[in-house]
Amino acid sequence: MSTYRSPFERLREKFDESEMRCPACGYVDTDGSWRVTTTGDRVRYQFICPTCDAVETRELRLG
Ligand SMILES: [Zn+2]
Repeated sequence: MSTYRSPFERLREKFDESEMRCPACGYVDTDGSWRVTTTGDRVRYQFICPTCDAVETRELRLG
């Protein structure tokens, strides 16, 4: 079996471990997960705050 991990999977792992904190109200979601979308060589992570509906977006480039 291969243990190869794509850059995308490594990034995802990194984000899964990072804190999801709402910049608007300070709410920290410890159980949620980032919503991940990819566009070409970019990965966009979004976290929608359950208390105030603010959207935190982070975008990373692959490669
Ligand atoms: Zn919030």
